[in-house]
Amino acid sequence: MTPDSPVPPQQRMHVNDERLVSLILDYVRERLSLAETPLDHPGEKAAIDGLLDGLITAGGTDPAVVMDLYEHHLSQTVLSADSPRFFAFIPAAPTKAALLFDMVVSAASLQGISWLEAAGAVAAENQALRWISDAAGLPESAGGAFVSGGSAGNLSALVVARDTARRRLVERDGDQARYRRLRIAVSDQAHSSIKNTLSILDVDPFVIRMADHRFTGDALRAALDADTDPESIVGVVATSGTTNAGIVDDLRGIGTVARERGLWFHVDGAYGGAGLFAPSVRDRYDGIELADSFIVDPHKWLFAPFDCAALIYREPWLAKRVHTQDASYLDAIHHDDGSYEWNPTDYAYHLTRRARGLPLWFSLVVNGTQAYTDAIEHSITLARETAAEIDAAEHLELLREPGLSVVLFRRTGWTAADYDAWGDRLLGAQVAFITSTTWEGETVGRFAFLHPGTTMDMVREVLATTA
Ligand SMILES: *Cc1c(COP(=O)(O)O)cnc(C)c1O
Repeated sequence: MTPDSPVPPQQRMHVNDERLVSLILDYVRERLSLAETPLDHPGEKAAIDGLLDGLITAGGTDPAVVMDLYEHHLSQTVLSADSPRFFAFIPAAPTKAALLFDMVVSAASLQGISWLEAAGAVAAENQALRWISDAAGLPESAGGAFVSGGSAGNLSALVVARDTARRRLVERDGDQARYRRLRIAVSDQAHSSIKNTLSILDVDPFVIRMADHRFTGDALRAALDADTDPESIVGVVATSGTTNAGIVDDLRGIGTVARERGLWFHVDGAYGGAGLFAPSVRDRYDGIELADSFIVDPHKWLFAPFDCAALIYREPWLAKRVHTQDASYLDAIHHDDGSYEWNPTDYAYHLTRRARGLPLWFSLVVNGTQAYTDAIEHSITLARETAAEIDAAEHLELLREPGLSVVLFRRTGWTAADYDAWGDRLLGAQVAFITSTTWEGETVGRFAFLHPGTTMDMVREVLATTA
């Protein structure tokens, strides 16, 4: 800009655009070329507040200064979930292809609401959804949308379960059925998001306690038979890979009972659904093809960046009936002339949405599906080998044969405080991030594997510190 062509005020936020492109792309290039992302450290509130204090000003701050603050200070207090040494909770391991395409999605301001606005993007997302539906053996009619996470997927699916049942009851019993309390059957191992979902939906959980943690069709049938008002139970949720222990419920048994009793059958595979692509464990998912709705989080074990969950319905029109937003300004996205349309917004409780399935789609296409199978199998093998080493160690006890890629173990003699102190030491030394969990009322150790870069040597380094 020369002095005689001052920047018009409405353009002021673009004066740095050119510099920003190189600044940010340089940072991204560097981050993406790291062989292993650093674990980094937890942050202290006072220190972070000090860094941020007064940063938002009327006139703006030089972007180089802000990037420096981010790169050298703020980001150091962000634990890298995509480190191969991150074994806590559920890690992340997005492929470079997916991460990079996520930037393309951002750069293109894709509005992923409707076929009208984003046909090619929606079709590509649907191709990725198709890959998942086919692996689950769902019918050709199945479809849905990518949502922000498993919690959003569970909520969106169970709204459809509730409203579909409610509609049926009202058709049969008239208006009084609108006020009837409804219940959905869950096992005591269901994910916390299911409990929250039911509370949001004002549906009561019908909790079935399993002595062995794995929810079965027999247990569901017995609980329904013993209940005094089984008609109020309108759905059932099974988990295909519990987050805490990697247990896949008896999907065939539960699905069969659901069919017999007319219950909506939802399968929560947020973490474990990816095991569908691993031949060594595929048989555990037998019966998943009976699901009325199913979710899996590509941002967990399908190597996509946050935030991405696939939500699939056996009969998507049931979801569309519940979720379509009816607003005059949206009329243009819904036509009635019979031409093709698929509006992702119609299949969950959202409206505006990022086309967040595209990074997965791009990575799948570029890398090929076998690369996915191999990477998933790698974590399953790591879990088996880790279990064997734990089993062989005098001072360690394996608590359960790993079903998927989570390993639970006990260090004899350790209290909760010992596990915490151990975890802190490992993170301090940047060897690993590992947190304890609760298993049958006891604090125990837990490894969650999903990073293709994790090696048995990294695991042995961690196990060696328990001696
Ligand atoms: C992670 C997880 C969820 C929640 O998914 P978010 O993507 O974190 O919202 C739900 N169910 C199971 C089984 C999970 O592992």
